[in-house]
Amino acid sequence: MRNPPWHRDELILALDLYTQLEPGQIHARNAKVIALSDLLNKLPIHSGKESFKDFRNPNGVGLKLSNFLSIDDTYPGKGMQRGAKLDKEVFDEFFGKPDELRVLASRIKNLAENEEVASKMPEVEDEDFSAKEGKLLFKYHRYRERDSKLAKRKKDRVLNIKGKLECEVCEFDFASEYGDLGNGFIECHHRVPLSELDQERETRLDDLALVCANCHRMLHRNTALSIEELKSLIRDNKNEP
Ligand SMILES: [Zn+2]
Ligand SMILES: [Zn+2]
Repeated sequence: MRNPPWHRDELILALDLYTQLEPGQIHARNAKVIALSDLLNKLPIHSGKESFKDFRNPNGVGLKLSNFLSIDDTYPGKGMQRGAKLDKEVFDEFFGKPDELRVLASRIKNLAENEEVASKMPEVEDEDFSAKEGKLLFKYHRYRERDSKLAKRKKDRVLNIKGKLECEVCEFDFASEYGDLGNGFIECHHRVPLSELDQERETRLDDLALVCANCHRMLHRNTALSIEELKSLIRDNKNEP
């Protein structure tokens, strides 16, 4: 059986390693290649990966790294000519930004190494969504913002102060629209950007924004958008003739 295709998160990790190696160091016996192979086997991304006996083994990781060689214009040799479209996309997006790449790679790595969190990740639905930062960091964001105790405290506080639960972006109020059915309903969004949300930082109530389901989906369609930016986007869009 063929191994499942590489996911964006895996490619981010591989490209990060690629930027640290000389072409001659790309082979299955290199300790860093072996370490990446171990890490990829820990990532809670591909369910059922245990059934592939050579899932992301050092050979496979070496091949993927050589594949970056073939995409890399700064390398005069040929590398492997077997490029997947996503390899090139990730390469083009991050190759010139090693710092950004390093931050994302280390966040993904930390998540994968936290067994408690990693074991819960597969339970978070991924809603047919892909973030620039990869699936794992996106899932982690969803996991953090759906902490039901915190969400409840946030809602209680806002209810106490304002007397209603309104979307912070568009002011939609479920209770006034749907009556009793909508009472107490609103979603929580974590304001801290995916690439900055680390495990040491505890969520404060001010990190959470209350948003309606539509605005929440729009925020997650473009992870670079903040609450304030989505607000002004709606305003600008309404003002257009
Ligand atoms: Zn809204
Ligand atoms: Zn969110």
